[in-house]
Amino acid sequence: VNALTFDGTEPLLRTDYSEPVLVAGEAIIRPTRMGVCSTDIELAQGYMGFTGVLGHEFVGVVEKVADSTDEHWVGQRVVGTINCVCGECDQCRAGIREHCRNRTVLGIHNRDGCFAEQFLLPTQNLLAVPDNVDDDHAVFAEPLAAALQVQRQITVINRPYITVLGDGRLGLLVAQVLSRLNATVRVVGKHPDKLKHCEKWGIKSRLLQDVGLRQDQDIVVDCTGSAQGFATAAQMVRPRGTIVLKTTVAPQAVQESPIDLAPVVINEINVIGSRCGPFDQALQTLSAGEVDVISLISRRVRLADSAQALKTAKQPGVVKVLLEP
Ligand SMILES: [Zn+2]
Ligand SMILES: [Zn+2]
Repeated sequence: VNALTFDGTEPLLRTDYSEPVLVAGEAIIRPTRMGVCSTDIELAQGYMGFTGVLGHEFVGVVEKVADSTDEHWVGQRVVGTINCVCGECDQCRAGIREHCRNRTVLGIHNRDGCFAEQFLLPTQNLLAVPDNVDDDHAVFAEPLAAALQVQRQITVINRPYITVLGDGRLGLLVAQVLSRLNATVRVVGKHPDKLKHCEKWGIKSRLLQDVGLRQDQDIVVDCTGSAQGFATAAQMVRPRGTIVLKTTVAPQAVQESPIDLAPVVINEINVIGSRCGPFDQALQTLSAGEVDVISLISRRVRLADSAQALKTAKQPGVVKVLLEP
């Protein structure tokens, strides 16, 4: 089958990749839309030391299941959470399954991803997509869940000043989610063409070069996807304020731009790491039409032509690249 893989050196489109083999508890899914995420770009630069099929954002149809008790999934349109868990370790037993100690992660850690004609995922990871959420919307479930996770992790009292740092794929979703809260939200980025989306959503936005770094923000969410993001966030957040880190970068980028933690100590900054999020809430949000994801779609690429897709996703002005079968 066609699959976009990473072999440790560069992204590679394989036309002869072996078909997935069903194992107990899992389903074979045929994706109908796939989303390219900054994590994919980082993985293709050595983040996590991953090799295999890339991709973790998808909507698709269940083709086959291993267990007869899962038959009802066959033919169902689904999205899926990306952490595949053991159910037995201390974290799983405590209900913190996304931190399972034995987990594999779709297209990120020890498991082939969804940038293929078919791929595997445990049926316990699947969520049925509501009929009124079409594929172009549903494919945003994963990044929207990640954006909603920020809302879960922060405390919003006394109408705080929140800066979303970064105007890319994730930043524009986080901004839309947080702008529904009782807070003053602005997006700070480097790309006028991306920031212009904020205007139609009624969200304030500024160019980074025009913003004073005054340590006056209650909360800064780093969605820059760059190793420099943290230093900028530390210059924006007030003493005892909060930085939420959504950014993951490949080790090489950190080496080139080391992160200085002194401001965290001096200004007693709370730093919150943030990964994944509630898929059910993401589907509800999409179903209710509460966020605009369609404006974020910049390009559509066929899986068979996807060798350059990661490069395309890095181009200036490009927000979301979708892959189609
Ligand atoms: Zn993602
Ligand atoms: Zn576990």
